Parts: sequence; C-alpha cells; structure tokens
Amino acid sequence: MISLNDVEKAHKKIQDRIHMTPILTSSQLNKHCVREVFLKAEHLQKTGSFKIRGATNAVMQAVETGASFVTAASSGNHGQAVAYTASKLGVSAVIIVPEDASRAKIAAIKDYGAEIEYCGKTSAERIPRAKQLAKERNGVYIPPYDDAAVIAGQGTIALEILEQLPNLDVIVAPVGGGGLMSGVLCAVKNSKPGIRVVGVEPESANDTYLSLQAGKITAISGTSTIADGLRTTQPGDLTFRILQEHLDELVLVTEEEIKEAFQFLLERTKQLVEPSGATALAAVMAGKVGEPNERVAVVLSGGNVDLYQIATLVKKRNV
Ligand SMILES: *Cc1c(COP(=O)(O)O)cnc(C)c1O
Repeated sequence: MISLNDVEKAHKKIQDRIHMTPILTSSQLNKHCVREVFLKAEHLQKTGSFKIRGATNAVMQAVETGASFVTAASSGNHGQAVAYTASKLGVSAVIIVPEDASRAKIAAIKDYGAEIEYCGKTSAERIPRAKQLAKERNGVYIPPYDDAAVIAGQGTIALEILEQLPNLDVIVAPVGGGGLMSGVLCAVKNSKPGIRVVGVEPESANDTYLSLQAGKITAISGTSTIADGLRTTQPGDLTFRILQEHLDELVLVTEEEIKEAFQFLLERTKQLVEPSGATALAAVMAGKVGEPNERVAVVLSGGNVDLYQIATLVKKRNV
C-alpha cells in the first residue's frame, strides 16, 4: 500500500500548483439527508476535477527522472489534467483521444497546450498507442489511476478534508478505476482508521462492486451511465488490492438518483457539478450512506460537463 508519508510528500510537492478547494454546506441538504453533510468542492479545482492532483504528482516525478515528454490516453478529465500540468512544467504532451471525442473536450486539451492524436474508439486501442509513443520519444506514459504516483496525488484530497473537518464519521467518494478512492484510503486508514470510507458506483458500472463480491477483478462488458468518468469496465490491479483491503463499503446508485443530486446541486446550491461528480452525493441523498446525525464528507469530484447536455440531466416538474 502507498504510505501516509507518500501522500504527505505528494501534498508538499503539488500544493502550490493546485487549489485548496473549499467545503460547502447547505442546511436544505442537511435537512433532506438527516446528516451533517460537507461537500468537498473539487469541481472548483484547477482544470475542473481532482485529476490534476495525481497528474501533477506523476508528471513532476517524470520530470525529476529527466523526461521532457509525456502521454496520456483520455479525452476526459485525466487528459485535460495531464495537458495542463505538462504545459505548466514546460514538458510537451500528446493526448491520445477517441475518434468520436467531443469538440468541447478536444478544445480544452488544445487550449491547455497539448497535442492531440486520434486513435480508435476504445481505451484498449488508445493505451498501447500512448505507451508506444512515450517509448519512441523517451517520454513517460501517465496512467489515469493504476499508478503509485497518481494514487498518492489523489490522496492529497483526503489530507485537506481531514484538516478542514474535525470529527468526521464518514468520507464518501465515487469509484471509477479506483485511483481517487485508493488515495483516500491510503491517507485516511493510515491516520484516522476510525473514519468509515464508502465508495459509490452507478448500478450499470458496478465493476468494482462485482469484483469485491467475487474477491477477484471482474470485468463488465460496458456501460452507458451518464457518469462518464465512472465508465471503466474493471478496477486496476493496484487500486483493487487497496480497495479490497481497506474499503468499508461500496454502494450503488441509479441514474435517476445521480440526476436528482445533479439537479439539487445546480438548483439549490448553484454549483455546476458533472454527473460523475454528483454520484457520491446521490448515495447520501438516497439514504444509502451513514446513520442519522453523522458528519459525512462527500467528494464532488469534478465539474466538466458539456453545457448543451444540461437539459437532459434535469427533470421537468409537473406543478
Ligand atoms: C476520474 C473521475 C472519477 C473516478 O476516479 P477514479 O480514480 O478513476 O476512480 C470520478 N469523478 C470524476 C469527475 C472523474 O474525473
């Protein structure tokens, strides 16, 4: 397991390059959930998601070992984070994206100063290409979650939560490939093991849930959940081992529950959080996490959403 010291070292390294994001509260939300809910506002993070934490730690490590070139295989938040970090650190980056990547995402990556290369439609095609390109140009491939430097970087969010919120009972975060959750577990279980840590997946992207039940990595065939940051089809080798050992509970939410949380955040708290970023709160709002009156920290993991999509995520009310 990655040690608390690894996460603390990562925090020292990256903290001047990222925001210490605020904790938001809402008395409406507390009333609805019958819990004290604290929202870690990582949708307000640089590049719009927590992915900048792991990317910064991993790209800095690559630079320390002499690399001047990095690659990543993601059109989403990881791709944006690597593109941004690389340009800030003065190394060049190529981000391998699917042929059908949205224009908004491509534009963001280009604006951050990285080059784009299109390749296939699946990560099974993109990852080997990103690794090959890194090898050809003496660079480093930066994985999205299954990597010690990435996990230690993601764990820095938990150090901030522990500093910002004393006497917590529960921390809740979404689970895709498991990098964020692994980082949180490495930080929390090595310092405050009494705090329960709960992961959340969409019902239709329940690969980690099934893997934990089976006691081994289990893949699903695919998913079209609206939480596009959680569409991984199996957990990583490293991340699965950490979750298997330390995660207290993994709960599932429906697409409707994710939409409810998205809509609540936008309407009541004025926060634009992407569906993946609203998934942990969806579980709390549905009464699936914690006991009445407990103090619950919820990671809002990101806020990057194509604006034209918003109408499809909110329900029309019949008056
Ligand atoms: C990547 C991502 C996740 C999932 O993180 P993992 O480390 O893959 O589990 C959750 N929310 C958002 C917004 C993301 O970008």
